[in-house]
Amino acid sequence: MQMPGNNFVAAVERMSRALEQLAAAPSAKAMLQEVVRCAAASLGMERAAVVWFDTEGALVAQVTPGLSTEAVVSCGRHLLQGAELDSAPWHFDLGDTGVEPKLAGMMDAMGAASLLALPVLGASGGCVGILLGPSPEPRTFSCEETRRFNLYARLAGLAIERGRWVESARTSALQARAEAEQAELLRLTSVQAVTEAFGRALTREDVGRAVLELGVPAVGALGGTVHQVSADGRSVELVAAVGSSLEELAPWKLLPREMPGMPGYDASERGSPVWLESPEEARTRYPAFVPAMERQLAKAFAFLPLRVEQRNLGLLVFGFAQARHFTELERTLMLGLARQCAQAMERARLYETERTARLQAEAAGQRLQLLADAGVLLSSSLEWESTVVGVARLAVDAYSDWCAVDFLDEHGALRRLTVQHARPERALLNDTIELFSPERSRPSAITDVVRTGRSQLVTGLLPPGSCEAEAGTGRQPEGGSFILVPLVARQRTLGAMSFVRGPERPPFTEADRSLAEDLAARAGLAIDNARLLRKARAAEAESRHHAARLRILVDVDRMLAEAGLDLPAVLDVIARKVSEVIGDGCVLQLMAEDGDFLEPVTIHHPDPEARWLLAGTVHARRQKRGEGLHGSTVSSGRAVLLPDIDVEEARASGGLSEYLPYLDRYGPQSLLVVPLAVKGRVFGTLGVVRDVAGGRPYAEDDQLLLQSLAERAALAIQDARLYGAATEAVRLRDDFLSVAGHELKTPLSALRLQIQMLARVTRDVATTPGLAQRVEKAERTSERLGALIDELLDAGRITAGRLTLQREEMDLAALTRDTVGRMSEALARAGSEVKLVADASVMGRWDRVRLEQVVGNLLSNAAKYGRGQPVEVCVETGREGRARLVVKDHGIGIAPEDQGRIFERFERAVNGKQFHGLGLGLWISREIVESHGGHIQVWSAPGEGSTFTVELPRE
Ligand code: ADP
Repeated sequence: MQMPGNNFVAAVERMSRALEQLAAAPSAKAMLQEVVRCAAASLGMERAAVVWFDTEGALVAQVTPGLSTEAVVSCGRHLLQGAELDSAPWHFDLGDTGVEPKLAGMMDAMGAASLLALPVLGASGGCVGILLGPSPEPRTFSCEETRRFNLYARLAGLAIERGRWVESARTSALQARAEAEQAELLRLTSVQAVTEAFGRALTREDVGRAVLELGVPAVGALGGTVHQVSADGRSVELVAAVGSSLEELAPWKLLPREMPGMPGYDASERGSPVWLESPEEARTRYPAFVPAMERQLAKAFAFLPLRVEQRNLGLLVFGFAQARHFTELERTLMLGLARQCAQAMERARLYETERTARLQAEAAGQRLQLLADAGVLLSSSLEWESTVVGVARLAVDAYSDWCAVDFLDEHGALRRLTVQHARPERALLNDTIELFSPERSRPSAITDVVRTGRSQLVTGLLPPGSCEAEAGTGRQPEGGSFILVPLVARQRTLGAMSFVRGPERPPFTEADRSLAEDLAARAGLAIDNARLLRKARAAEAESRHHAARLRILVDVDRMLAEAGLDLPAVLDVIARKVSEVIGDGCVLQLMAEDGDFLEPVTIHHPDPEARWLLAGTVHARRQKRGEGLHGSTVSSGRAVLLPDIDVEEARASGGLSEYLPYLDRYGPQSLLVVPLAVKGRVFGTLGVVRDVAGGRPYAEDDQLLLQSLAERAALAIQDARLYGAATEAVRLRDDFLSVAGHELKTPLSALRLQIQMLARVTRDVATTPGLAQRVEKAERTSERLGALIDELLDAGRITAGRLTLQREEMDLAALTRDTVGRMSEALARAGSEVKLVADASVMGRWDRVRLEQVVGNLLSNAAKYGRGQPVEVCVETGREGRARLVVKDHGIGIAPEDQGRIFERFERAVNGKQFHGLGLGLWISREIVESHGGHIQVWSAPGEGSTFTVELPRE
């Protein structure tokens, strides 16, 4: 496109100046006004008029006051149409009959009785109009008057010509200006075209810059600014500036939306421009603006609101070096620019909105994708450490430049799990991204987040030591940003995740924070789940382990119970079981009776050869208390665990010499020895040995199990040993009693015969007073002695299982009667009267001698413990036809807790000093009754007496 010169404003100014000059010359109209006034005066009249054709060809008139222009024009037209210039001047009188009626009418309309008319000739000689001199009275015009009038006609011709010239000059100036305007319009169209060419990709800042770069030279301004209303509508911010220094711009970067008294605010509010053509005008109209103005070079300003569809987008300001008048054209031009600018900004805004929405949608998609990927990753495995590292890796691609995960360990200390870089290769080069990490920029941020459980979003981070970046655009530099979110699960904070973006990326937003929180919530849950599961698994393994151990112990208990009190069986069970559950070889040693040496009592190994070698090894050297592995276990009472020893070690230690051959043969072994102890008294050791190559070395766990087994083994061994010792003691005692009984019996029988004989002799002779009684007493004593020896012999027989019954048909009532009779003397001595109820005979097949023994025992106990009270004896047929014998006394009675045990061997419920006896009578009686298939029981209460009941089947 052809432009009308580079400086359009200059062109327009040139035009304007010409027009101004033209306008400054006296106008044609004024000259004609003067001409008609003078022409009228030259005829001695008051009225005159001139009619002429204007540049458009229309007839116009200039008249003196009192004349009708319309009438003058029609008259002029009439004359000019029909006139013959040669016949001028014309003189018409109404009274003259030669005047045509039409003209007469026109003269009448002008109020003329006489009329002088002369053609007005132009410079070229052509007629351009007509000069009229109408007289209200009829009159004549002298030659002189006509000549003078003609002079004025000539002057009128000149004035009309000049007017035409001026008019055409103005027209051409206007035309030139219109052309310039047209050209400028085209130029603006090109501005718009340029703006549009930047198109939708332009930001508002770009639009602002483009408008200023094109507009400032176009309007001849010193500089300009574009401000836009901020998104929240509360402030106005500088978008672009041309021709101003940074200091000048500083106060204008961010302005409040409302600034009453300021021209820019006024323009924006009213929606119409404010023109300040000079500092004086500014002073008058906007005193508040003056201080700001004085800081600038500009002397005139144009404040142009940027509006689209009544919405206020901002302000375009041009500043001019000189005070000046803004022509209409300039105003139009600047307003046009402002309109273009506003529209372009609006387009850019719409584009930005659309772009933001699109980016947001894309970002939302990416976020969802990230969350979905993280979810899949986290649920893929229970190894939370690796999955969380994976999530951090995912996060450093689209989402952030850097990501770190810290977690609280079991001691509550924060530990870093991972750091991920979007570009790991740059991390190696000490990438500055780390400068924006929370620990660099806010050292306590991570602990704060972990402590409070609240996330943090920090933007605008500048690397340490850097100063504010350039503010050329009026915007704050964006800097780096980070987000810190707590890893939370079940209201507990488990750690924190940090995400960092460098300054090249848009800073994190609230939406990013909520994504980070979502991500951390998922990771937190995964960590918590994994930890819980690990714990549950460990607990399960532990409880399985416990259950297995408990089973072993229960098994061992059962096996030991089965082995009973038999020491060899008990030792065998222990060795086998220990070898089976802990393995492999088991050596059980007990302290020998001398208390100084350990005796290997049981050795077990599943492999016979190993067992043989082990036995040989252990037997070869008896260990002394305090010596060797086993000896020192006895002296210390503590377990010894040697997880992995080889022959060299054993040789070096010197304390394992007993195992050397075994180690030589089988290689490195694991050894474990625990003491066998009851109530703190160590009486042996239980050791195990395992091939390290074939199985794992013993651990604490094995030690605990072996100790539990050893506790049980020690008790079982102790019981079996005690039992063995007790049985042996009883056997020895029984043997002794039986021997002693027999040995005593023979001389006692002889002695009793002698005493009986002596008694008979002393009764007959009765020489010495009291001798008979003493002999009788000796006889009773020997009887009692005989009974005691019988009891001892019976006890021996019963223990040895030699009690045999001689059954015969007999009457229990008769036997009881006889026995009571036989013992009546003894009962009488005790002071007890016996009431016997045994009328009917009670027959059965029983051992007479043994039953006599039973009745005798019960009666002698009734006499002994009956306190001299009456004794009732009854024999009858009881339930199911059984024979029943009841012996009831009213003596000392028996405490309930003693009533069961008095039927046991040697058991007594009384003090031996008060009542003599062996505690065998009731035991023997029970043995006899039970060997008859019957039973014996007692009912008694202390101080009330006792009732013994014997029931015997007839057969
Ligand atoms: P002992 O030689 O001691 O009498 P026995 O076996 O006959 O032995 O009796 C066992 C214990 O039973 C006695 O020591 C005594 O304590 C208690 N006893 C037996 N008969 C009676 C009874 N009739 N009245 C009270 N206590 C009795």
